[in-house]
Amino acid sequence: MSEAVATIDDLQDDASHAQSDAVNAPVNLLGLSQEALETVVTDAGLPKFRARQLWRWVWRHGLTNFDEMSDLGKDVRARFAGMFSAERPRVTRRLQSSDGTIKWLLRFADGNEAETVYIPDNERGTLCISSQVGCTLTCSFCHTGTQKLVRNLNVAEICGQVMLAMDELGDWPAGKPERRLTNIVLMGMGEPLFNYENVADAMKIIMSGEGVALSKRRITLSTSGVVPEIKRAGEELGVNLAISLHAVRDELRDELVPINRKHNLAELIDACRNYPGLSNARRITWEYVMLDGVNDSDEDCRKLLALIRGIPSKINLIPFNPWPGSAYKCSSPERIEAFAKTVLKAGYASPVRTPRGQDIMAACGQLKSASQRERRQKTGIND
Ligand code: SAH
Ligand code: SF4
Repeated sequence: MSEAVATIDDLQDDASHAQSDAVNAPVNLLGLSQEALETVVTDAGLPKFRARQLWRWVWRHGLTNFDEMSDLGKDVRARFAGMFSAERPRVTRRLQSSDGTIKWLLRFADGNEAETVYIPDNERGTLCISSQVGCTLTCSFCHTGTQKLVRNLNVAEICGQVMLAMDELGDWPAGKPERRLTNIVLMGMGEPLFNYENVADAMKIIMSGEGVALSKRRITLSTSGVVPEIKRAGEELGVNLAISLHAVRDELRDELVPINRKHNLAELIDACRNYPGLSNARRITWEYVMLDGVNDSDEDCRKLLALIRGIPSKINLIPFNPWPGSAYKCSSPERIEAFAKTVLKAGYASPVRTPRGQDIMAACGQLKSASQRERRQKTGIND
């Protein structure tokens, strides 16, 4: 991990020390585990069951205003209002596509920005969340990798994306049958396994039975291949795993997904083969971006099938989403279809990911860049 990220982690440590000093600054409830909340509440001299009540108000009912807590006396409410906040990230832009996709550009307290996208699809509604501002990796086809600023999102900022979406989608109380947010994918900005601790704590909160209670089967973590953390994610979180594969020869993957120079294909495939809890009901998703003349030949397809043989798998072919200055072109529809057909013949369902929200720049990193360009034009400042 880069030094820049380590420095930010230090800052976050400082921030969490400051948070425990509840007397001075309100603690953001969205970053607290159930146990941590209990500690803050009992340290303030209140009984433990108050923490439980508050937890349910926040994570079952989406509390934003402490006066809503109808089963608590006025003085306890006032006390909590002084100790805590339930603040969501600030929305600086909200775009809704004609296909129902919603994209929020969020600005955090330090001015950094990240994106969250909601994608409705028949009976399922998927929220794509970010784990970092920018990304330290520099995959050559990915726009996020070109953004200079990088920092980890903290637990409140990760959970805040889910809360905000549930607020807007009218999904409280959590768990109601007609809810619109049914799945979460960690496929927004950033490499989730480079921010493992915060991502894990946030997902544990979202999975908690007394709160949002989203099943681990409905959460998918996408990684470019941070091999040492893959096993841990499987054991501790048990979420679905998606791998940004994109190339099946080390030479090409070194170029497209440079973390491959550190953890090569053999190492990555081995970690996936041993991912805890794999079965036909719980498969690895292989993401494969279709780049014209680069990774889309019949030979590439054969190699792909050979590489993943024996691993319970799904294959997700992603049409490349071009961005200004990108060096690649998307494969032709005919090529994508031919590739998909071979995959299908080999016994894998091979959904080609339909581009969503194209009218609102829903692809990762694009809205943030547009916003930065606008600000540069307005202020003349290059940020
Ligand atoms: N860092 C993680 C998760 C975020 S990226 C990862 O790399 O897996 C989510 C997915 O979008 C990844 O598979 C990524 O490779 C893909 N992606 C990035 N830029 C893209 C683009 N311009 N067109 C299509 N897919 C892209
Ligand atoms: Fe980072 Fe993923 Fe983009 Fe690679 S594809 S630069 S790992 S966000």
